[in-house]
Order: sequence, then C-alpha cells, then structure tokens
Amino acid sequence: ELPPINGDFYELSGSLSAEDRALQLKVRQFMETEVKPIVNRYWNRAEFPFELIPKMAELNICGLTFEGYGCANRSFLMEGIIATEMGRIDASIATFFGVQSGLAMGSIYICGSEEQKQKWLPPMQQMKLIGSFGLTEPEVGSAAAGGLTTTAKRHGDTWILNGQKKWIGNATFADVNIIWARDVDDNQVKGFIVEKQNLGFSAKKIEDKMALRIVQNAIITLKDCEVSEANRLQNCNSFKDTAKVLQMTRAGVAWMAVGCARGAYESALKYTRERVQFGKPIASFQLIQNHLVEMLSNVTAMQTLVFQLSKLQDEGKLTDEHASLAKVFCTMRTRDVVSRAREVMGGNGILLDYDVARFVADAEAIYSYEGTKEINSLIVGRAITGFSAFV
Ligand code: FAD
Repeated sequence: ELPPINGDFYELSGSLSAEDRALQLKVRQFMETEVKPIVNRYWNRAEFPFELIPKMAELNICGLTFEGYGCANRSFLMEGIIATEMGRIDASIATFFGVQSGLAMGSIYICGSEEQKQKWLPPMQQMKLIGSFGLTEPEVGSAAAGGLTTTAKRHGDTWILNGQKKWIGNATFADVNIIWARDVDDNQVKGFIVEKQNLGFSAKKIEDKMALRIVQNAIITLKDCEVSEANRLQNCNSFKDTAKVLQMTRAGVAWMAVGCARGAYESALKYTRERVQFGKPIASFQLIQNHLVEMLSNVTAMQTLVFQLSKLQDEGKLTDEHASLAKVFCTMRTRDVVSRAREVMGGNGILLDYDVARFVADAEAIYSYEGTKEINSLIVGRAITGFSAFV
C-alpha cells in the first residue's frame, strides 16, 4: 500500500481550529467536485463558467476578513487557506475570486464611506454584483504609483473620466468597476465606482492569452465617462490608499501561488507512481524522486512562510515589504515547482488533460500580476537597505 498523497507535509492544517478546518474542506470539496471536472474545457475555450457563481456564493466566503456588511469577520489565515484551496485546483477561478473578494470589495471596504460600504458590499458579498479593479493602463504598468494617465475632472457633483485601463480581470461582465484615476486639479490618485451601464464606459475582452485563460481580462475605455461624486471612494486621497488594498491582496496572491504549486506537485506525484517505464513505476527512480523532493521542499517552505505572513496580518503587523517578499518568493518557487512537475510527466506534461500544463501556463501570469518580481523585490530592497531603487 502506497502512502497518501499530501502536499501539506508539515501538517500545517493540523493547527487550524475545527471551524476553520471545516471551511477549508468545504471549499476543497467545491473545487474538486464543481470546478475540476469542467476547468480544462473552459480554459481551452477561454470562456468563463458563469454557472459557478451561484454555487460559489453559497460558500459565503466573499470579503471573508471584513467586519459587517454580511462578511464573516474571519482571519486572514483562513482567507489564505481558501486561496490555496482554490489555486490547488485552478488559478483562474482563484484569480476571479481574488478580484471580486479582495481587490474590488477590498477597495470599497478600505477606501469607501460608511454609506458606500452599506450600499455595495452586501450584494457583492452575496455575489449578486461582480466587481473589477482597474489600475493598470496600456502604457503604465509597474509605474502606476506616480504615472497614471487616466484623468478625472470634477464639475459640480459629477466627475468626468477619460483614459484606458488594460488587463482588468472580470471587467467584460462586472457590474461594479473600481477605476483609479488622477484628479487633474490636485494631481492625486482617486478611486471611482463605475457601473457597467455608465455612459462613456466600455470594456473589450483581451483575446489569445496563454495563461489564466478563464479569467476575462479587458481593455476598458473611459470616454467622457460621467461618475457622480456619490460614487467616488470617499476615503481615498492618494495612491497611498490604493496601496493599502494592494498590500492585502498581494498576500493573497502568495497563498494562491502555494496552491498552484501544491496542485502541480500532487498531480506529478500521483502520475509518477502510476506511470511504468523499464518495468517499474517511474517514481522508483532516483532522479525522479529528487525532482519530487525538490518540489515538496519548495511547497513546504512556501506554506510555512505564508502561515507566518498571515499571522502578522492577523496581528495588524503586516507591512508592504512583508507582503512583497511573500509574493516574490512564492511566485518564483511556484514557477520552479510547476516546471519540474511538467518534466516528470514527460510528454503528457504538456497535455491539458493532465492538469499540470495549465499550472505551468498560469504560473507565468501570477508571477507578473499584482506587481512583477522586480517591483516587489525593489519594495523589499528599499525596506532593507534604506535606499529606493525606483526611478
Ligand atoms: P511593465 O511595467 O511594462 O514591466 C515590464 C518589465 O520591466 C517587467 O519585468 C518589470 O518588472 C520590469 N520593470 C519595470 N520597471 C522596473 C524597474 N524600475 N526596475 C526593474 N525592472 C522594472 N491590472 C489591474 O489593474 N487589474 C487587474 O485585474 C489586472 N489583472 C491582470 C491579469 C493578468 C493575467 C495580467 C498579466 C496582468 C493583470 N494586471 C491587472 C496588470 C498587472 O498588474 C501588470 O501586468 C503588472 O503590474 C506589470 O505591468 P506591465 O505588464 O505593464 O509591465
């Protein structure tokens, strides 16, 4: 009898409360029974499985760490565990959820007024309204902090937005789009809740992506788009407030990467135990075992790191550099793990049917979004050296 396949080698789940463990298993079951059977088909067609939204809503996990507005007020640790459970099966679905629950709801929770939170968060928590987060532009990616070219101009109680956003996840169908734009009068970044029916708002799907194909990324065009002052995020005064949202969601991306690596490792281990060459399972060969142990070492190191990361977050001690270090380390290690998983599967490693090929492609996108490796490294570099290397 072979030992169980378990990517949680140091039994970190064993430290969870019974309530947290139950939620972890509920999300795992949802991912394994509802998502896994359909995911390769949707990924291949680059379509979004809308039928999953009501089922996901039943899990009641949107805005998990927020207090009030129908949110559960649970720990960041629990939220991270959910990101890993999702990433373990599919990074696109994990990303869709991260945009809704973290980036979009988080912007309103962190930067919205009490009235705005009461209006928008409950329907978003129930997934009756879907959100997107529009920061990146066609010509401004890493330099978003000081370089946004989308403008906002106030005329009485109305703002006029002009510009373009690129890569915006969920935006082809989102009801609520958080748009970050530069106020031409005070030159500061402000946040706006732009509804899909707002005049002057349009979103066009980005075709032919090689990764996260289920996520519907869009180019948003804002052409004299009118937004009322009531839909300006009242507690956002500069990019510093936008950065608060990113600090929280970057920690979430690190957890999701752990899931992606763990899913690839578990698939590869299973495959190598079943695949026979030279009359023996390939898992019995020394060179294959070395790959498997390297993968497990990375997965275990990442898991241990994100557990401590969320502990800091739950204690209110998380800094930008903590989140950035985790994001860089985990996405870098994930790239290594998924490529070894692909390698030990030989030719089948590049077939969608065997899941790992999808992880390999998706790891590339996770590596670059929410701040590239270089940008997150520079955030850590600035913190440890005292010198900023940003231009
Ligand atoms: P660039 O900024 O052009 O960078 C190109 C290269 O130059 C990178 O390697 C970068 O690290 C490097 N570089 C840049 N500046 C420096 C420097 N000072 N020193 C050293 N190296 C540097 N954005 C949103 O707003 N909302 C979303 O929902 C969203 N979803 C996304 C989903 C996907 C699948 C992808 C791929 C992207 C998404 N993004 C989203 C955008 C994402 O955040 C950006 O792609 C990312 O910030 C990098 O910007 P860029 O692609 O323009 O690269």
